[in-house]
Parts: sequence; structure tokens; C-alpha cells
Amino acid sequence: MRMRPGNRAMNSLNDFLDDRVRRFGSLPALSHRPRYRTVQWRFADLGRQTAELADALSQAGIGPGDRVLLQAGNSPNWVAAFFAVARCGGVLVPANPRSPESQLRRIINDANPRLTLRSRLGRAGISGLPEWVLEDASVRPSPIADPLTGEDRLPAGLAEILYTSGTTGAPKGVMLTPTNLLSDMVGLSQAVPLTPDDHVLNLVPLFHAYGQTAAMLCPLSDGCPVSHVVQPTSRAIQEALARVPATHLILVPEILKTLMERLEQHLGRWPGFITRLFRDRIRRRLSPTLRTICCGGAPLDSRLEERCRALGFEMLQGYGLTETSPVITANTPTAHRLGSVGRPMAGVDLRLADDGEVQARGPMVMAGYFRQPELTSRAVVDGWFRTGDMGRLDDQGFLYLQGRRKYLIIGPGGENVFPEDIETELIHQPGVTDATVIGLERAGRTLIHAVLIARPELAELAVASANLALAPHQQITDWSLWPDGDFPRSETHKVRKEQVLAWLKGQRNPPMQGPHMTDRKLLPLRRVLAELSWVPLESIGEETRVISGLAVDSLMRLELATRLEDELGLCIDETEITPDLTVAGLGARLGQRRSLVGATDYPRNFQKPWAGRLRPWLSGLLLKTWVPWCCRLRVDGLEHLDLLTGPCLFFANHRSYLDSAALVLSLPEAFQQRLGIAAATEVLYRRYAWAAPLAELTLNAFPLPTGLHENIQSGFNTMGRLLDDGWSVLLFPEGRMNRVDGSLQPLRAGTGLLAVEMGVPVVPVAIIGTERVLPPERICPRARGHVTVRVGSPLSFADQTPHASARDRIETAMRRLLAPG
Ligand code: AMP
Repeated sequence: MRMRPGNRAMNSLNDFLDDRVRRFGSLPALSHRPRYRTVQWRFADLGRQTAELADALSQAGIGPGDRVLLQAGNSPNWVAAFFAVARCGGVLVPANPRSPESQLRRIINDANPRLTLRSRLGRAGISGLPEWVLEDASVRPSPIADPLTGEDRLPAGLAEILYTSGTTGAPKGVMLTPTNLLSDMVGLSQAVPLTPDDHVLNLVPLFHAYGQTAAMLCPLSDGCPVSHVVQPTSRAIQEALARVPATHLILVPEILKTLMERLEQHLGRWPGFITRLFRDRIRRRLSPTLRTICCGGAPLDSRLEERCRALGFEMLQGYGLTETSPVITANTPTAHRLGSVGRPMAGVDLRLADDGEVQARGPMVMAGYFRQPELTSRAVVDGWFRTGDMGRLDDQGFLYLQGRRKYLIIGPGGENVFPEDIETELIHQPGVTDATVIGLERAGRTLIHAVLIARPELAELAVASANLALAPHQQITDWSLWPDGDFPRSETHKVRKEQVLAWLKGQRNPPMQGPHMTDRKLLPLRRVLAELSWVPLESIGEETRVISGLAVDSLMRLELATRLEDELGLCIDETEITPDLTVAGLGARLGQRRSLVGATDYPRNFQKPWAGRLRPWLSGLLLKTWVPWCCRLRVDGLEHLDLLTGPCLFFANHRSYLDSAALVLSLPEAFQQRLGIAAATEVLYRRYAWAAPLAELTLNAFPLPTGLHENIQSGFNTMGRLLDDGWSVLLFPEGRMNRVDGSLQPLRAGTGLLAVEMGVPVVPVAIIGTERVLPPERICPRARGHVTVRVGSPLSFADQTPHASARDRIETAMRRLLAPG
């Protein structure tokens, strides 16, 4: 490939990747499930994709020192972009694809990138820069105008600039070199070794240093596959744990807490000895393979750590900062202490300053803050980086963190008061969901002020009970209720205390109860709305209007309906999102919805070994005798199937309950063995519910929710998984049986979406004559007769195909097959 001259240090990320691609080429490296299908890359795919993107970047004029903004969620393409930018000598600027526009603007103004790489599902046009879509290799306009001027170029040898703060105020860009990143990777790989037989399930964003080291560089280094969860909702995590043979889970404490709460909601919380008695069962319920949970990025409640250990998980907590690439201490499988963040990793010098501040030195300490030499010289003195965290070391060198220095409250007698100690007490009081403690200056005194997310009637009692357990210098002197369902949080879910403090200062007399209390039950819905509309969570209240208040246009309404199904498992028709609908109103509507029980189960019963043994008998008895008895089958076009190398979607017209059986019998044995049939819930699972178990066993039927208030997403998910596992799927895209005549009814709107999103060939099929043998609404044959099944040639659709045109093509192909002659 054509490459501009780089520099030696920059090449080390290249060398690293090339070496691992050579060593592990055919092994699985990365996977994720952006929508319904799983995308999997081997090490060789990563090497190829990186080289292709680097070549395109280089040809477009990206060279040493040029910044490239990467605005995407976790995916294999993200990893390729990381290495491709380094390969051209460019400097990556990873950004949270969901950060508000104002924040992104500040990053862009500071970093001055020349190009944005974003994912297909991300926002377009927001950066105001030339944009490339990561997944679309074919659409790469070049060259990029306006090369940077000389003085704007960077010192050589940077891998990336990571912006840590910057929701308000000036952004702080941490400059990291390949040596920083690779040395941290070496230290962490020694502390938590992985092998190609392990499997990492990652829930941490790659635009954060923690994700990059723990969930990208370390697994790549050891040849270990990684699966990324695109949006770590507890449902998505549980699904991923059931599907992926994960041995290691990488997450932040907040997500671990939610996950454990979900698990305990299902199982109930038991005394320690009972948990230990049943722990293997409980663990298997979460994941049969998971051994190790790696947690870091924010304080971990040691009681939560203990609960995970009681289940038999190896809990490895680590600690670090973006400025230290990031990990500097970690518990290891052989050296760990409850409540500690572990010992310093190999290569890290660690010391405590006189006041207890943790300071670190080593090759993982950053190159400095971008364009902020003064800030850098205050943070790094004689090579020692001042973390701003307070800690203590035990006699065996384990570090215990006590909180951030800047949040340390000095008590009336000069005592150190760590807000975290008080928060821990508060969080364990009944009725308290979360708490953050802040030192408030009032009339020359520092008041210990607790901000609670709690049931209002229990808040006062909670503060009083916490005070009983706290030392005199830790006593909470004042408190208020946070007016929202959650605190503002950072990427790793740390509470943004500056914002809480700003809110407190804005209240002359902090009210005991916020004026616009939002029901906590609405929090998941508000999260979905915030993610979709990019309006900050704090600004979305019960009375906010969904359409005018959040600027939801007609296209976004559809997306909103999809996301509500995806993330909350609840179905709403987009037409129900009317201009007068408020957030509370939407919440109330969703509250009345049900999701179809059982539709989400996977694998389906028909995929189980016992079903495989039973099926030949059943289908021999029912299908292979009954169908040939009542109809004479003629099959045309089977030669088209020879073109297929993997699973496909069969789309057929629908006129009789005989259609599925006739089609199955028409197909070659190899397809018959691995074909799932999408059956409308309204018919098979409601009207003929008694027949459903038999249809599932003999015909491999599975529910495709079709009722107005049902969750159609679950049906699409099942289809995606069947295809992932090598099964083909039969669908009747008219959505219901034609009871009137032999013509094809218009295909359902979702047909094009399925065809494009599922990413497999679509085989159109015409079934002719079944309605004479078994007319609509009948379940006993009326007469014997001829049935013709015509198989069309497979259609394939590129990722970018508009759904409507995909549907039109399928409809035309089906009509042509149905036409006489
Ligand atoms: P960031 O630069 O966003 O990674 O944030 C770094 C800060 O996160 C540190 O200064 C700590 O305050 C906090 N942090 C990271 N890991 C831990 C941990 N295991 N326990 C407590 N705090 C942590």
C-alpha cells in the first residue's frame, strides 16, 4: 500500500497488529451484534480491514500528525479504525457518539481534526467535517481539502488524544503514545492473563482508555476473542451471556450493580451460606462459562464485590486514569483483597504523597495535556503523575482508595472526611436508591451535604440512620432530594459532582423536594428518549412533549418505536406518538403493553437434541404420509438453491394452512433439516394454540409477533439468531393468508427491512394450488389435488439498499413466479 513516511514509535502499533494477525490469523478476534445479525471477524479480517482503511485514509491525504475524529460505538470497525489511523501516522480523537453536540463542538475546536469516521447508525453531518461511514468501504470521497498548516501539526509519535472532561468548561485532551498504550497492555496482560480459549465479553466503551487496554489491546495480544455488547442494557447483557461463551466480563461498577440486581430480582437474595450451596446453579443461570469479572473505572461497593465472590466469580478490580493509559493497579487471580484496587502492575512505580494522594510513574504516564503545558507541568512533576485520588497502602502493598482529593471535605477538627464513606452508609438505607455527598461552603464552614435519590417520605429517616453509623466528624449536616431519576454521570458512570454542586448552588434554599419530581419508573423510557433525541436526560421531564419538546420528526418516530421494542421490550405503534403526547403519557401507554411470553426464548425447542431425535418420526407420520396423500407435489426451480452457500430467507405467498408443509417437503433434505418457520402469533399461538407445540416440533415453527401491541422485535431477533446458527427461515411476507383470490397481496412494510438487515439471500417462492386442497380457514382437506411450488433465483441486497426498493424487488419476483405459464 502507498504509505507516507511515519515514525518509528508510531510503527509499534502496526508491528503489534501485524504480529498478532500473523500469529492468530484464522482465530476469531471480534464480534458484535449491531441489530439482528452477529458480525464476526477473525484476526486476518482485522488485518485486511485495517490495511484497506489505512490505504484509503492515506490516499485521501491523512498523514503524520493529522487528527481523525472517531465517533462510533464499539464494533470491529472501531478497532480497525484505531489501527488504520495509527498506520497512516495520524492521531485518533475518539469521541462518544452520543455526546451532546455542544460537547462535540468543543472537542472539535480543540483538536482540529480533518476527517470524521462514524458508524452507519450514528448521527450524520454533526461534526461539520468530511465524514466517512466506517461500514461503507465503497463510499469514501477523497481527497480531503485543506491540509493543516505547519504550526498546527503535532509532535511526532502520538497515538491519540482522549478528552476526559468537558461537559462544561474547557476540554482536557490527554495525549497518549503507542508506548503508553502498549506498556499498559503488557502490565495488564501479566496481571490478568488471557488465552485463545478464553472469551471476553466487553461492556465498556472503546472511546475510553479502559475499554482500549482491557477489551482491545490485551485480548488481541493474547489471541483471545472479544464480543462487544452494543448497548449494555441488562437485557442485552443477559442475552449476550447466554449466547457467547464468555469467560471474562469487563464492566464498570454501575453496570455490575444493575446486573446483580436483575439477577437477584429473579432469584431472591439469600443468606451467604444458601447462596454458596446453590451458587453453581445461580452462576449457570447467568452464564455457564463465566469465571472472571474485571471491574474498574469508578468506585466499587465492596458489598457488591462480596456478593459476586459469594457466587464463585473471580472479582478483579483495577484502578487507573485516562492519563495513565489507564490501569496502574489491579487485583490478579493470585493476589487480591476485598475492597482494594490491587497492587501496582509491572512497570508502575506508585507512591503516596504526605497527604495521601496517589502518585504514579512509568511508561504508561501520558505525554501531556494537548496544548496545555501549564496544566501538564502541574499534573506531572519529575515524571510522577499526581492522580488527585486519595489512598492508603496496606503492609502487602495493596492500594485502598478513599476518594478524590478535590472532593475531600476537611472536618471541623481538621479531619479528613471522605464523601465515599458517607455515601456507602446512605446507599444501604431503605428507600435510598443513590446518594452523593458534597462539602458546601456556608458562612465560613464546610457543611456535609447529602444529595439523595430516595423515596421522599423515607429520606429524613435515612439520613438520621446513616448518621447513627457515622463518626462525629462525618455527620451529615444538610440534605436535599435530587429532582431526577439519576445523577449526571461520566462515561464510566461516575457521578459528575461538579454538576450536582452547580445545581445545589443554583438553589438558594435547597428544597426538600424538587419542583418537578420525575417518577423513577420513567427513567428507562427517558433514557431511550435522551439517547434518541440527544436532549440531556436531566432536561426530559414528565411533562415534556415527545414530538415538539424533543424535536422527534416522522422518521425518528419510527426509530423511537423500534428502540422502545428493542430496549424496553414493549411495543407501540408509531402513529400513537401524537403531538400532544407527553413523556408521562407515553410511559402510561407503555405500561399497558405486554410482550409475548416465550417469543424471546432462544434456542428454540426444535433446535434441542431431543427434538432432533423425535422429529423424523413425527414428520414421517404427519408430513411425509399425509401431504403426499392429499396432494401431488410438483417442484420447479430447485436448481437455484445450488447457488447458495449458507442460510437464506424463503419468502412465499400464503393461501392455505398447507403451505408450510408443502414447501418444507419440496426442499432438499439439507434445507428441511435446518429450516425455521415464522408463524403469526395471532393465528398459531392464539387461534390454534393447541396446535402450536406440534407445529413447533414437526415444522420448526416459531412465533412472529403480529398483534398490534406485541413486540415484533423479538421475532426478528429469533430470525437473526437462527441465521447466525446456520438455519434458514421461511416467512409469509403478505402478513396474512389471502382468503379472496390467488393474487399476491401487498407485502408488509417490514419485508424490505428484514431482507436488508438480515444480510442473507432472499429466495422468492410461489405456492400454487394448496387453496384447492385445504381452503383458507379449513384444517381438514376438501379434496385431493395438484400443488406446484416454484422456487425463484436468490436475490441479494447491499447494506445501503432502501427498504422500500428491496420490498418492491421481492414483490416483483414473487408476482413473476406466481404468474401462469
Ligand atoms: P477516568 O480518567 O475517566 O478514567 O477517571 C479516572 C478516575 O476514576 C480516577 O481518578 C478515580 O477517581 C476513578 N477510578 C478509576 N478506577 C477506580 C476504582 N477501581 N475505584 C475507585 N475509583 C476509581
